[in-house]
Amino acid sequence: MDLKNFPAEPFRIKAVETVKMNTREERERVIREAGYNTFLINSEDVYIDLLTDSGTNAMSDKQWAGMMIGDEAYAGSKNFHHLEATVQELFGFKHVVPTHQGRGAENLLSQIAIKPGQYVPGNMYFTTTRYHQERNGGIFVDIIRDEAHDAGLEIPFKGDICLEKLEKLIQEKGAENIAYVCLAVTVNLAGGQPVSMKNMRAVRELTQKHGIKVFYDATRCVENAYFIKEQEEGFADKSIKEIVHEMFSYADGCTMSGKKDCLVNIGGFLCMNDEELFQSAKELVVVYEGMPSYGGMAGRDMEAMAIGLRESMQFEYIQHRVLQVRYLGQRLIEAGIPVIQPIGGHAVFLDARRFCPHLTQDDFPAQSLAANLYVEGGVRAMERGIVSAGRDVKTGENHRPKLETVRLTIPRRVYTYKHMDLVADAVIKLFKHKEDIKGLRFVYEPKQLRFFTARFEEK
Ligand SMILES: *Cc1c(COP(=O)(O)O)cnc(C)c1O
Repeated sequence: MDLKNFPAEPFRIKAVETVKMNTREERERVIREAGYNTFLINSEDVYIDLLTDSGTNAMSDKQWAGMMIGDEAYAGSKNFHHLEATVQELFGFKHVVPTHQGRGAENLLSQIAIKPGQYVPGNMYFTTTRYHQERNGGIFVDIIRDEAHDAGLEIPFKGDICLEKLEKLIQEKGAENIAYVCLAVTVNLAGGQPVSMKNMRAVRELTQKHGIKVFYDATRCVENAYFIKEQEEGFADKSIKEIVHEMFSYADGCTMSGKKDCLVNIGGFLCMNDEELFQSAKELVVVYEGMPSYGGMAGRDMEAMAIGLRESMQFEYIQHRVLQVRYLGQRLIEAGIPVIQPIGGHAVFLDARRFCPHLTQDDFPAQSLAANLYVEGGVRAMERGIVSAGRDVKTGENHRPKLETVRLTIPRRVYTYKHMDLVADAVIKLFKHKEDIKGLRFVYEPKQLRFFTARFEEK
């Protein structure tokens, strides 16, 4: 591994936040008290926090300057108009409805676009997305290509939709029974895997023939665009902005979590072209979020989001972002650690099945691996496996995802390559005594989105 091949940070540091490492004994106590759930650890007890890339972004000086020109009027804030114009220009959609974060947009879209009993095919599920779809009577169907479920298979654009699966669903259920296709760029739970432009075009063609709408989960659209530029033929000379714009030209709208690719700490929005849907969304947003000109955000937050979204399209930023993640992945691969390949855009996913072959899926291996990694190096990661997948709403049985992973998610513009080295060293050290990782059992299992607040004990 040669650090020389990776780009230096395209920024310099203007403000710092001190972190400290506690002792192994302290970390053992902390994880026990947190019920072996890394979500329940206090931030102060964490040395390197890779729980999520959501809302953990470092803002730029320009974004902080934007915070000072927040127009906090209840209605008609000028920051909303800035955000609206920015999204219209960069994404190309006609209408923008602000929400407090991504799930706020998912709630609105699911309520206005799903009739009970309708199918919502998607390229793998996302926790909150599927929750809102099912809550509104939708039936989620996974139509991602089969290869996405194979952690070790290294092929590009593993997030693509399988067109045959989509076509078969349309034939079997009828186009009128499909609410819309939900296409995520990139696919978080598949390991941050991108979708190719070719696939987006093909999904557009197929759905248009049947009059089915397509909504993107746009949360990591800029990272997806970087992969297209890097790996898809014909895009090397296109700018990130042009690629993002083309991606969205094949959609009817999108939900967006601003906490990821908008480089802010809070915020989100819903986009669409359809006038009727827009009217319905505006009627609902006042119930759940706030006026259509703030949607649960402060004016200053909308300003920071407008500036952040534009910054994220800069090539130097997104190249460093994706390659820093890849650097961590490469270090682990070189040491023989089982990870999902290829390395995706926002995180490195440890393959807990291969990391802990002595555990079964009912031992919650990824949950335990994340807990043990915290004890090993003060590194906080999260489970993405059977615990996150939850139970089937009808049968009450556990969903059993093929992928059983621990996600090391890299916050944007926050950590250095040296931090990535420390994380790699902790994982490698733990791998050497992996047999010490014990299975877990629930002592408290919440009914919904259980991974956030569940508690466990060692078997
Ligand atoms: C984070 C995320 C969401 C939900 O967004 P929030 O802002 O956390 O509500 C939806 N989809 C994907 C792919 C995400 O990563």
